[in-house]
Amino acid sequence: MLIKQLRLSGFKSFVEPSTLRIEPGLTGVVGPNGCGKSNLLEAIRWVMGENSPKSMRSGGMEDVIFAGTATRPPRDFAEVQLSAESDDGDELEVIRRIERGAGSAYRVNGKDVRAKDVALTFADAATGAHSPALVSQGKIAQVIAAKPQERRMMLEEAAGIAGLHVRRKDAESKLRQTETNLARLEDLMAGLD
Ligand code: ATP
Repeated sequence: MLIKQLRLSGFKSFVEPSTLRIEPGLTGVVGPNGCGKSNLLEAIRWVMGENSPKSMRSGGMEDVIFAGTATRPPRDFAEVQLSAESDDGDELEVIRRIERGAGSAYRVNGKDVRAKDVALTFADAATGAHSPALVSQGKIAQVIAAKPQERRMMLEEAAGIAGLHVRRKDAESKLRQTETNLARLEDLMAGLD
């Protein structure tokens, strides 16, 4: 998958709608301290479904909404739009929007979807909020210090099989539910004899 464009509005320090085109090849973000470099990487993670406040360096999920400054009032919502091209050449447009008091909503190619659908789409394309392709500050040291189990998870994400774990968990929970239903049915049938 190729990320081609990012559009932010009301997200952290990006209060005005800002569009960034990402050209093929390696992309570096440079700028003075505090100008919003890490916020950009967090915007990519966030639109891909990141929900851990720690990863977003925030106390709660609504903290990603522009909080206002001495001269500008806070915003009521934050929105990030990511445009990408799949390996098959299909266009993908993902939008995540959060409103104060209303939580997050996702759209993929114009259709409302669940957070899980977005996470699976990216996991299957060997990318996503925890993708090893997104290298933030301190990440290299983390890879070196990682335990074998953690390193395996990183490799699985890089290989594009992380989505299978989510599907397996779903399938296991459906199986448990079916077993419970079956047991109830047997009880009911025994009552009819
Ligand atoms: P450094 O080089 O020091 O790591 P950086 O370029 O990565 O800095 P960021 O950490 O991305 O910068 O941006 C920090 C800025 O974003 C700070 O000025 C902070 O006040 C601002 N910021 C973060 N969250 C919000 C928010 N919700 N509303 C407004 N501004 C915010």
